[in-house]
Amino acid sequence: MLPTFTYVKPASIGEAVRELSTPGALAHAGGTDVLGCLRDRVYAASKLVSLNGLAELRGVSETPNGGLRIGALTTLSEIATHPLVKLRYAALAAAAGAAASPQLRNQGTIGGNLCQRPRCWYFRGDFLCARKGGDTCFAKEGENRLHAIFGGDVCVMVHPSDTAPALTALDASVRIVSPRGSHMVSLDAFFVPPSKDYRRETVVDPGEIVTDVLLPASPVGAASTYRKLRARGAWDFALSGAAVMVVRRGKTIQQAHVVLSGVAPVPWRAMAAEKELIGHELSDGVIARAAEKATVGAVPLSDNAYKVALVRGAVMEALSELRAVG
Ligand SMILES: Cc1cc2nc3c(=O)[nH]c(=O)nc-3n(C[C@H](O)[C@H](O)[C@H](O)COP(=O)(O)OP(=O)(O)OC[C@H]3O[C@@H](n4cnc5c(N)ncnc54)[C@H](O)[C@@H]3O)c2cc1C
Repeated sequence: MLPTFTYVKPASIGEAVRELSTPGALAHAGGTDVLGCLRDRVYAASKLVSLNGLAELRGVSETPNGGLRIGALTTLSEIATHPLVKLRYAALAAAAGAAASPQLRNQGTIGGNLCQRPRCWYFRGDFLCARKGGDTCFAKEGENRLHAIFGGDVCVMVHPSDTAPALTALDASVRIVSPRGSHMVSLDAFFVPPSKDYRRETVVDPGEIVTDVLLPASPVGAASTYRKLRARGAWDFALSGAAVMVVRRGKTIQQAHVVLSGVAPVPWRAMAAEKELIGHELSDGVIARAAEKATVGAVPLSDNAYKVALVRGAVMEALSELRAVG
């Protein structure tokens, strides 16, 4: 059963951030994550601030510099099927289309997808884990087959979002609004690794909301994709995934972003793989070497060494797909 809380539906962004600045207030967008967490007592809220009265937070539009602006309340379904997203930012369309299930994609928003809480069963269960205020990450010594092989420090949860690695690979930024004004943050700097602060997942402070996702103009010669590996065909989080964006002149790669999902507490930049790709064509050998380099630094836990092979496979499949469209 849901606990008792007050519910407000502001008509302006200013009113929304003022309401969110009171202690115990939480934003409510599609509600697919926050309502389940409140019901299951993962965390508490005394007030939900619905963003659903803010029409300006919906929809996809072109920006004057040739990029795209996606309002935070735009649903994952709208993003997955939007013609310009599919044409210029294929990794994002694929990631949004691979998240959760059709019903959840119709309800879940991009802002909520980026700000959703971890899916770790200890965090979601009756355990006072480090992220919930305790001093232990129970997954480290416990059931950890779905957990991190990279970047696990005080906490080995994996970041649950599919759109986050795609947006990181595409050099996206978000606008964050607070009662004091607004500022932009690149996706690279949006997620907080446990080594910096294991009690939060993003830089969004209480009283702030994400209002827009901004994609830069797609460079000439750019192509991108997202490959997700999961246990079931739908309604499942990534065991591993790879969002890849390359910019080619002719067939030669000038710029490469390889960002992994399902294997680290934040979208994980596979820098060694990126370096391996620069200056080369996507030959079988280069693809195999880059896929191998994507596993550099992996430190598997007791039950998740299988993820190392999944990383290799996801990167290999994503790069092979980009070779076919190049
Ligand atoms: C069964 C199931 C399977 C799923 N599978 C996947 C999957 O495979 N891949 C995947 O990526 N996701 C998956 N999800 C998560 C789902 O996609 C997200 O829950 C959804 O996108 C969240 O959007 P929402 O609008 O419903 O967020 P809400 O539930 O409304 O909010 C989620 C969190 O974000 C905060 N928030 C929401 N909007 C904003 C904003 N604009 N600014 C600041 N904070 C905000 C809320 O306060 C809350 O903490 C799954 C969820 C379920 C229930």
